[in-house]
Amino acid sequence: MSRAERLAGDLAERELDALVVTDLVNVRYLTGYTGTNGLAIVQPTGRRFLTDFRYASQVERQVPDEWTRTVVAQDLLAAVPEQLAQGTQRVGFDDAHLSVRSHAKLAESLPGVELVAAGGMVEALRAIKDDLEVARIRGAAQLADEALEEVLEHGLAGRTEREVAFALEMAMRRRGADGGSFDPIVAAAEHGALPHASPRDLQIPRDVLVTIDWGARHEGYCSDCTRTFATGDRLGDEARDLYELVQRAQQAALDAVRPGPTGKEVDAVARDIIDAAGHEEHFGHGLGHGVGLALHEGPVLSRRAADTALQAGNVVTVEPGVYLPGRLGVRIEDLVVVTRDGHDVLSSLPKSLQVIG
Ligand code: ZN
Ligand code: ZN
Repeated sequence: MSRAERLAGDLAERELDALVVTDLVNVRYLTGYTGTNGLAIVQPTGRRFLTDFRYASQVERQVPDEWTRTVVAQDLLAAVPEQLAQGTQRVGFDDAHLSVRSHAKLAESLPGVELVAAGGMVEALRAIKDDLEVARIRGAAQLADEALEEVLEHGLAGRTEREVAFALEMAMRRRGADGGSFDPIVAAAEHGALPHASPRDLQIPRDVLVTIDWGARHEGYCSDCTRTFATGDRLGDEARDLYELVQRAQQAALDAVRPGPTGKEVDAVARDIIDAAGHEEHFGHGLGHGVGLALHEGPVLSRRAADTALQAGNVVTVEPGVYLPGRLGVRIEDLVVVTRDGHDVLSSLPKSLQVIG
């Protein structure tokens, strides 16, 4: 069954006659279309795809025959009414992505039709990856790992954070990545206490911790990984102890990843260990997030996560961190796919503390 067919099956549950899909990542997931102007309409009776003339030939190549493809001259939303089946009464739209202005326009063009907020329906499908998607994410992760290994051959100490980040981006691109899945984070010493630090033009000193968080985008899919390295053997005890703590919390949470527990429960496994060490104030973000066509998607692993159980096919990060403001930080992140009887780790680099001078 195609993704659009599965989605069409979900419409009945919500008593919808149609779903208008405007977010381009969702459009890509459903149709394969990678252009920048496209709109999909899913109805029980058929699937419609709209684009403009710039993409006419691309649509022929990318969007399968399951979709009735129409090239329209005007705004795509303005063409929605004529695509809807006779008697359409309730139309779902993506309230997380459609602007207030577009919503007003759509409502005006559909008198007598009820517009229903239906965000998250495609995202729910996206949260469970099929084998091809897992293979693509695995490929992106492998490419990213190889790129970092190449960069580390030239050492860390004495280079600036920005040089290392740039070298990493180049190395990923040379290996065929479309680019990074986000701007790499390279954060040394006290800078590592900022979970989302931007690389600085400052030389990385010896005998400090350096956190590198990076990922590749390949064939549309993202990877995401973090390792924290030492730039010498003479680290203080505080840094070593913190590393050991985060590694232990990360491994325990990773061991808990399988179908059954909720994102909140897996988050608690790492959080309890970090809290017990007196660092509850210093782990201020969630344990992890889903990864796929987007860097951040469902399911979420955090204290505030929905009470839904992890399922086979989820691809999530497990990334506890402890941050001591003005002093240092440690984060270790793996990308992992939930399998029927456990999980499979897609990140390959070692997690014991590596010294890269
Ligand atoms: Zn990351
Ligand atoms: Zn992440």
